[in-house]
Amino acid sequence: MSNKSWLEPNSKSNALYQRAKEVLVGANTRGQVWLNPYPPYVQRGEGAYVYDVEGTRYLDLTNNLGVLIHGHAHPEVVAAAKQQVEDGVCFALPTESEIPLAELLCERVTNFEKVRFINTGSEAVAIALKAARAYTGKTKIAKMEGVYHGSYDFVEISNYSTPQNWGNDPANVETVKSTPHGIVDGVVVIPANDSAASERILREHADDLAAVIIDPVPPRCGMQPLAPEYVSTLRDLTRELGALLVYDEVIALRFGYEGSQGRFGGDPDLTALGKIIGGGYPVGAVAGKSEYMQAFASDVPTSGTFTGNPLTMSAGLASMQVLTREVYQHLDDNGDKTRAALTEIIQKHGADMQVTGTGSMFSIHPHTRSIDSYRSYYRSPEEAQRVSHIHIEMLKRGVLVAPTCTGFMSSVMQDDEIALLCDTFDTVLGDL
Ligand code: PMP
Repeated sequence: MSNKSWLEPNSKSNALYQRAKEVLVGANTRGQVWLNPYPPYVQRGEGAYVYDVEGTRYLDLTNNLGVLIHGHAHPEVVAAAKQQVEDGVCFALPTESEIPLAELLCERVTNFEKVRFINTGSEAVAIALKAARAYTGKTKIAKMEGVYHGSYDFVEISNYSTPQNWGNDPANVETVKSTPHGIVDGVVVIPANDSAASERILREHADDLAAVIIDPVPPRCGMQPLAPEYVSTLRDLTRELGALLVYDEVIALRFGYEGSQGRFGGDPDLTALGKIIGGGYPVGAVAGKSEYMQAFASDVPTSGTFTGNPLTMSAGLASMQVLTREVYQHLDDNGDKTRAALTEIIQKHGADMQVTGTGSMFSIHPHTRSIDSYRSYYRSPEEAQRVSHIHIEMLKRGVLVAPTCTGFMSSVMQDDEIALLCDTFDTVLGDL
């Protein structure tokens, strides 16, 4: 491991940052993972680790925010991608490659009868909601307050509400400045895990409601499965009101071999997918019951220059094939061990913190409030500051978690990696 930190003025990362500033807005292309004053620039990744341009090694618990479920450069994924690169990476005719990946998804998840591929999770959410509109002949979309579904205008409402603007019933708060009123007003915002309030709010919009979209394990509501009673209220109500229930499993597919819906129950009409199904390449998909998926064959044309490209399809298939039931079990076991160990460290230090999570994911919170909604998850500016501090101090010591102090574990992580994470967290809390 090199001794030079990316933060040193003569580091290679600083030199890259200075160049980037000249030509990239805000010096970057991906605000979500940017750090002030600038982050380390990555050179390469291998297994559970990434190396920056200084040669410094970091344990990578982001795995590109949940994409790389087998870590970096997994041999079987690399082999599939290499073969495809040699055979050609995109064609304006179909290739066989999209069929086995769709077959695998339909074999694993009961509600998946048909699949439509697209290029990102955001697009998957967008086209799923368009299909719901086409099917129902209605236009409004309901989503949960504070829950992220990517960058599609209708799901960006009330993503970052604050106590100053969130109101009593969740207010429709724009995320992007000057979002058209028609979009802001076309969204119905409901509170996670509050069946009575959600039902009351949804009934008010029954005549216009095309779909309710939920993340079954919403990270910003505690990263635990939604209460079964809440989910079944939404299921029954959407049926009664003539709206579709759409799951966003862009992240949540990683929680079970049959998806989150298989593991925690639930009976969605359509499901948006992304991240792990592309093996590290850009991907999105909608899967669901044929009756609703049929919209894509008629009223909702989707296309896209790179949609279903064989490089993504081949790498995605290889990655999903490696993700057997046994591998899911390993991910779950490691997640349990990690959450327990981090909790012990918090208790040892008497810190005002907690760890939550499900399966292979964990999140470290700067408070001890019980979390079951965005409002109980919400981090005050002072709390957010503490999270940033922990994040950066872990990074300085060679452990990379997401800026929200969230970890996405990969299947190649073993006890050594868990120990490294926990020792580093222990040191950081000790220094606080
Ligand atoms: N839905 C969820 C739950 C997500 O976490 C994300 C991405 N983090 C998206 C949708 C959007 O996916 P993408 O970034 O591939 O557009």
